[in-house]
Amino acid sequence: MTSRDSRDETVGQSRSSFCPDLQNPDSTVERVGFLDPASRFAPQGDGGDGSAEQGDGRSSSVQGDGGEGFAPQGDGGDGSAEQGDGRGSSVQGDGGEGDGGEGFAPQGDGGETRRVILVSPRGYCAGVDRAVATVERALDIHGPGVYVRKEIVHNKHVVNTLRGKGAIFVDEVDEVPIGSVVVFSAHGVSPAVRIAAQQRNLVTIDATCPLVTKVHKEAQRLAKAGLEILLIGHEGHEEVEGTQGEAPDSIRIIEQGDADTVEVADPARLAWLSQTTLSVDETRETVARLRSRFPALTDPPSQDICYATQNRQSAVREVAPQCDLVLVVGSANSSNSVRLVEVALDAGARGAQLIDDVTQIIPEWMSDVCTVGVTSGASVPDYLVREVVDFLQTSGFNEVIENQCIDETLTFALPPEVR
Ligand code: SF4
Repeated sequence: MTSRDSRDETVGQSRSSFCPDLQNPDSTVERVGFLDPASRFAPQGDGGDGSAEQGDGRSSSVQGDGGEGFAPQGDGGDGSAEQGDGRGSSVQGDGGEGDGGEGFAPQGDGGETRRVILVSPRGYCAGVDRAVATVERALDIHGPGVYVRKEIVHNKHVVNTLRGKGAIFVDEVDEVPIGSVVVFSAHGVSPAVRIAAQQRNLVTIDATCPLVTKVHKEAQRLAKAGLEILLIGHEGHEEVEGTQGEAPDSIRIIEQGDADTVEVADPARLAWLSQTTLSVDETRETVARLRSRFPALTDPPSQDICYATQNRQSAVREVAPQCDLVLVVGSANSSNSVRLVEVALDAGARGAQLIDDVTQIIPEWMSDVCTVGVTSGASVPDYLVREVVDFLQTSGFNEVIENQCIDETLTFALPPEVR
């Protein structure tokens, strides 16, 4: 196992810091206030047809990769998903609470300007939005006392908020009283969990992200075809456990560092899949190493790393070289949040820190810092980012600009039980 596991690694680092030249604004940067979250993510569907397609950022020069040979699949009737990784670049401002909206005019006047670059997209993805809304709707319908297996998403603030509204979080379904309502988290569950819930006569509501369900379906098909599957991911992560549970005799979990040593039964009958929230670059390297050893390695029919993970990594990669420090808002058990810290550092940020919220900012981090990038993981509500930026503004960062890398439009319909 490598140190990349989100649950046990150091997630903040600093390098030598200095104030960069502020005279070279990226053309995609514009001075803006906060975007209205509703303008980036339309509210969940009203029951529509139960399908969801991704339009994930088609501002300019789209390079989608999802179209070829990938047939989106339903997940038991509550959503089908299609994803590409549309890469575009655009300037976007909403004129909201920005400081004039007259365009980015950096001052670069010897250090007087200290700026915040808000990285976008950031925060809630379509799967998290759906999962949180599912629990809220379940509480509306059934009242307090709705059970949720595992954290609905990996963010302590979200979990605590839902707990305050009456949700009861448990680790396993055998902790749920017989006949009660239980919601399965966005990370998905194995068939064994579904069976255990049935045996307890539980009323189940499945908030599994449709893009996780897509990976489950791929695992079923590859296993049925008689292939051994190397599942690249973090041992112990709920999503990985759920996917492996689809075909436990055919799937072996490997970490990124295992590619050079893993042994397989038959190199001619081998496939790979991945967790949805891994580093895009590291996964590419891992697959290349696997393929150098096993040339017949079968690819998944489409990219398993989801659009939200890819987009957030692309966005922070674009901004990082300008930043003395990147603050990633997210919880330590959030794989995609931890990846953002790593990507920021790899892309040239001089420091990067993972924080659950504004209270975890350490003042010493800010010494000699002129430019702070702020982003957040896919399970982080935007008010937590807003609090961080408010704090920075009161701490001398007198300019806030937003770097809109990709415009996301994907939404998923709610599970049928709560429409
Ligand atoms: S990070 Fe990706 S896979 Fe996970 S819930 Fe969000 S959209 Fe779905």
